[in-house]
Amino acid sequence: MVGIDPGHNGDNYTDPSFINQTVFNGRSSESCDTTGTATDSGYTEAMFNFQVATYLAADLRAEGAHVILTRTSNTGVGPCVNQRAAIINNAHADIAIDIHADGGPATGRGFTIFEPVAFGPNDTVIGSSEAFGNALKSSFLADTPMPISTYDGTNGLSFRDDLAGLNLATEPKVLIECGNMRNATDAALLVTPTFQEDAATAMAQAITTSLTT
Ligand SMILES: [Zn+2]
Repeated sequence: MVGIDPGHNGDNYTDPSFINQTVFNGRSSESCDTTGTATDSGYTEAMFNFQVATYLAADLRAEGAHVILTRTSNTGVGPCVNQRAAIINNAHADIAIDIHADGGPATGRGFTIFEPVAFGPNDTVIGSSEAFGNALKSSFLADTPMPISTYDGTNGLSFRDDLAGLNLATEPKVLIECGNMRNATDAALLVTPTFQEDAATAMAQAITTSLTT
């Protein structure tokens, strides 16, 4: 079973009181969710995340894998980030990925992979998550034209203790910011089905590698 979390949701902007509620993320509190970012032309991160997730789910199912998605449309609100983690944990996923694109500085380019820091629930999956993140970094560089981030993390990796999706994970899990939607060069890539399919291919490869080694 593979868990796929396409970050945010297409109608999050319609319900700020729901989205802004505070939830426990395993270490401290954070917002239920946000609207996510968008390109200058208005292509939303929620749509990007959902498109990549859809391609990834198809790739994995074609390989015979079972998939659990935290949302199955881009026309809803939520679920909250802690609930997204619970959906994947409760499905007994063997591995999982949170799919995002960043709203970084306009001059910054590239992708970053967030990896968990131990906080109780995720204690047993820190090493396996790190291995998954390293495999994903390699496959993303090989399968997509996106460079490693010029502004976030260290050499494409960032260890984060402030995200429910990583703090609460009971399976190997990483979050990927696939590029910077606020950078014109990255945005031109991110909106294309070709890039979205290539990103999914890279994720599927890293997932398969991690499950079979
Ligand atoms: Zn996001």
